Amino acid sequence: MNNTDRRISLITGANKGIGLEIARQLGKAGHRILLGARDTGRGQQAAKTLSDEGIDVRFVSLDLGNPASIKAAAADIEANEGRLDVLVNNAGVAVQGDGNTSIATMDAVRTTFETNFFGTVEVTQALLPLVKKSASGRIVNISSGLGSIALNADPTWDYAAVKLIGYNASKAALNMFTVILADELKDTGIKVNVVNPGYTATDLNGNSGHQTVAEGAQEAVRVALLPDDGPTGAFTSKEGPDPW
Ligand code: NAP
Repeated sequence: MNNTDRRISLITGANKGIGLEIARQLGKAGHRILLGARDTGRGQQAAKTLSDEGIDVRFVSLDLGNPASIKAAAADIEANEGRLDVLVNNAGVAVQGDGNTSIATMDAVRTTFETNFFGTVEVTQALLPLVKKSASGRIVNISSGLGSIALNADPTWDYAAVKLIGYNASKAALNMFTVILADELKDTGIKVNVVNPGYTATDLNGNSGHQTVAEGAQEAVRVALLPDDGPTGAFTSKEGPDPW
């Protein structure tokens, strides 16, 4: 099978955690994997791990905080692949100094938005012309239950105590981005959805999450593989729809 037969998927921040596992599961589903990572060594190592598992994969250098890197990644994919079928906007940060409004540092709030929102929007803008070349493009944004305004407003929610003005607001903004982009693309074959992976043991939370990365990747992979009559503009977890 050559590149044009396989679905081509780019996963950002795929050198570890949920992103690496999404890359693995999409690779096992037969996709050609473009493994996005900002660090060349870590990206190449992760690509080798998947390649050793029999997955068709190559590393693509991509730093969401660096516009030149985003442009270069888009040029690379255009030149070498010609199109992009699936974009998984997985890269994200949670940083020290974030917290409730009275104590969060503005540096932490801005740093979080830089990756989780601005960088994600910029990557999507740069790659959209290539996704439009796909016969059935899919854009999957990785949000969080913490990005749900409805859940944040519910004092009985299990995670009601986790009030991080930078992180939670950046994921709420990502949810809004999903709705706005899905609307813009509603008359194309491109589906734009956002998923809450659930609380998953990764470096983001000091490996405190109760799910494995395989469980954390599950919903993103399902949405990346949606059929052409699937939904667009939805916010879901593996348990079903999430409230906005
Ligand atoms: P993780 O293990 O810390 O992985 C985050 C990934 O994002 C890493 O590959 C990291 O690269 C990359 N990244 C960060 N900033 C980047 C940048 N500027 N450019 C490119 N890549 C960048 O965390 P994770 O838990 O797998 O998180 C994946 C996604 O799931 C995030 O969007 C997170 O917010 C979301 N999420 C996670 C949980 C959870 O419980 N774990 C719950 C809800 C949502 P480096 O290795 O170079 O830092």
